[in-house]
Amino acid sequence: MSSDQTWKTKYFQELESAEQREAHWKAERNTLERMLVRTSLASAGQTAELDLLLDQIRSDLRKSKVDVDSWRKLQEQIDRQVALLDDAPAPVTRNSQPSAVPEPSLSATEEPPVDVADETDQPAPITDVEEQSQRLRIARRVGHLLGQLLSQVSLEPDAEARARNLQRALLSSDDWDELREGLNQVADLIVAAVTRSQREFEAFLKRLDERLAMLQEHFSVQSSAQTEREAAAEALDRNIRNEIEQVGQHIEASGDLQELKLSVTSHLESIGEAVGRFRVEETEREKMLSEQLMAMQEKMVIMETHAEQMRGQMRKERERAVTDLLTQLPNREAWQERLSFEYNRWKRYQYPLTVGVLDIDLFKRINDSYGHKAGDRVLQLVAREIRNRLRKTDFVARFGGEEFALLFPETPPENAQAVLDKLRAHVSALPFHFGGEPVTVTFSGGVAGFGPDDTEETVFDRADKALYLAKDSGRNCIRIG
Ligand code: GH3
Ligand code: MG
Ligand code: MG
Repeated sequence: MSSDQTWKTKYFQELESAEQREAHWKAERNTLERMLVRTSLASAGQTAELDLLLDQIRSDLRKSKVDVDSWRKLQEQIDRQVALLDDAPAPVTRNSQPSAVPEPSLSATEEPPVDVADETDQPAPITDVEEQSQRLRIARRVGHLLGQLLSQVSLEPDAEARARNLQRALLSSDDWDELREGLNQVADLIVAAVTRSQREFEAFLKRLDERLAMLQEHFSVQSSAQTEREAAAEALDRNIRNEIEQVGQHIEASGDLQELKLSVTSHLESIGEAVGRFRVEETEREKMLSEQLMAMQEKMVIMETHAEQMRGQMRKERERAVTDLLTQLPNREAWQERLSFEYNRWKRYQYPLTVGVLDIDLFKRINDSYGHKAGDRVLQLVAREIRNRLRKTDFVARFGGEEFALLFPETPPENAQAVLDKLRAHVSALPFHFGGEPVTVTFSGGVAGFGPDDTEETVFDRADKALYLAKDSGRNCIRIG
């Protein structure tokens, strides 16, 4: 975002600076034009040919055209006319109203008559005092205008120095040759000022084009980064590209500085508007997105909290559903689940898997002798002993009443029998006391291992039958089914 902002700032600074230069160039050009018009009017009335050339300058200026090459040619013609004028004994026409523009005539476009021209460098003898003072008036006027020009245009340092010397000469010298040369130099200075402006303007256009290209590239990258912004960025990209292309075409097609300036200004305005629009849309889009994001985050927090509560609640519900309340052992549902899981693993890996079934011996008697609560307590203590003495991979559930079902993964029936036998011996040795009276609690058990063609039910049945065998054979023992 920061580089985006930097480019936008730079771009708008460039636009502002372009506008200032534009205004400056416009003022510069106006001054030059005014000066040329006044100079041409001041110089009018010397010869019909010269008047026609001066008229052409004024006419060009009205057309708002600056064609430096054609003006150079015009200047050469003027020079020739001025040289003829200098060398001529007397002016061909004498116009006391310099502002009046003479009517053009056919002969005026032709070469001046050779017979009146003097090819030597000798200065023309001044035969007429009025003529002399008129020339000096022109030179002073040009000197004055040159001063105005210098205050408004920016010239190269050496051109600036030349212009100052020239101005001094025009204002003070009485030497006509020097003044005539000075007038020529004024024309050169005007051409230099215009050329420099054009050069600066072209450099500015080049820089502007580079900036716009970078801007365009920047927006292209941005658009590819965010698909949401793609359409808007593409439109802007297209807009800028078109404007730049048109600027380029105008630069190539037109040699006219004024026209170029107007064209570029108009394109810059279009680009500026497009960028401005994009920026406004972008800000709105970002604002909307950030609001949506914040709203979403708030919702997410609420939802996550709610989901966590739900998960906890479901966990508890689930545990309650599969846990026996009295002994806190897994219940019969949990047993079925675990049995299916281990059975499937056994089918797949064929490791030894044994099922055990335990039943507390003569439990009814405990209930009957010491009460149901004492019976419950016996169930809890026996359950704790079984759970604590099994391996972590083994599983025990309260199957119902005073019966427990067990799973011994990766354990053959004989080993499971040995484990249960140790457990049986341990429980039978526990010092139960009811009403101060020691009571022995024992259990019987049956085990059965999974074999070929066995199912969950068949194995459980075999273990259950083995349990009954144990009961039948006097209880407090473990049998294999
Ligand atoms: P055997 O050695 O043949 O198993 O004799 P037994 O008395 O244990 O067998 P029987 O099935 O006759 O009696 C089981 C008794 O367990 C009956 C029932 O009241 C009691 N019992 C079942 N569930 C609970 C219980 O949750 N708490 C208590 N206190 N007693 C229970
Ligand atoms: Mg029983
Ligand atoms: Mg029993």
